[in-house]
Amino acid sequence: MDLQTCLDYLKNYNGEEVSFMEVCGSHTEAIAKSGIKTIISDKIHLVSGPGCPVCVSPSGYVDKLVELAFSKDTVVATFGDMMRVPGSKGSLNDAAGQGADVTMVYSPMDVIKLAEESPDKTFVFAAVGFETTIPVYTLLLDHVVANDIKNIKLLTALKVMPPIIDWLCANNANVDGFIAPGHVSVITGSDYYIGLSKKHKIPFSVSGFKPEELVIGIYGLLKMWENKDTPDYKLVRNFYPSVVTAEGNAEAKRQINKYFTPAKARWRGIGDVDDSGLYLREEYLCYDAGSFNLDSDIKLNKACRCGDVLMGKIDSTECPLFGKLCTPTNPEGACMVSTEGSCYVKAITK
Ligand code: SF4
Repeated sequence: MDLQTCLDYLKNYNGEEVSFMEVCGSHTEAIAKSGIKTIISDKIHLVSGPGCPVCVSPSGYVDKLVELAFSKDTVVATFGDMMRVPGSKGSLNDAAGQGADVTMVYSPMDVIKLAEESPDKTFVFAAVGFETTIPVYTLLLDHVVANDIKNIKLLTALKVMPPIIDWLCANNANVDGFIAPGHVSVITGSDYYIGLSKKHKIPFSVSGFKPEELVIGIYGLLKMWENKDTPDYKLVRNFYPSVVTAEGNAEAKRQINKYFTPAKARWRGIGDVDDSGLYLREEYLCYDAGSFNLDSDIKLNKACRCGDVLMGKIDSTECPLFGKLCTPTNPEGACMVSTEGSCYVKAITK
């Protein structure tokens, strides 16, 4: 597919208004950095969905992490983004400032060394993420189980994509097509979206992250959307074949299935979605730090519109708190915390 042809088509498109949603934080970042929104027709709206794992973790989950961090002989280990997510009693950063034991790591595997060095302490890893990140937790579990390590546990808020996409389609989200998450698709494969595309008659374009890959992916999505009523027209196409296959990574999927089982999960600002979370299987519950029933999700500021942003119903700038009470340095809502959060990305590229 010729890049210039795709670009010209997107630029000159003058048909019905369409809204395409990316459900991947890295796509949110890449789209913002590429400036692609400024070079395509204003009849094509690119909106951000719930693709940032930090942003969709409910406040009850943060509260539990804070509680654990204040518990005797317990250390909470986490990625940096999670430190700033507000809970009902503040963030992990706030807790650390008040003496709670919190440590920031770059990989879940870093916890192994920490746990060896301090055998008298229990290390709880804040395990958030989608299909992309979950295989790393299974590697940690492989090591912990094989070596019978007793002082490493997980507090999980793991999520999977199809149920939330299904939910968005069934609940009037503002979306005519999905830019399927590139990294998630490496694990799941592009065939993962076929059932959803048929059920909701909605196209999926698996795209890479470079500007030219995004142009081709969005062009492909628009063409699928234009032809969606044509009998037998394919509604799932893989424009990222260098890393995404139809079947995905069988070994990673086997590992995920070995340790985790699906159940209902709460998405911050959205609510409960059946089978959208992954929890440790019964035989591995001894490695769980209390991940169940952490579904409270209070609105920290009643004016916060994170839910509407995550459903593509409003642009971040339409939230009354955006850029005023809610900024990257002082986030009120979770979408302003992570570098992949839609409000954060909007704030730094505005
Ligand atoms: Fe939520 Fe802040 Fe975004 Fe408003 S600007 S939707 S409060 S993250």
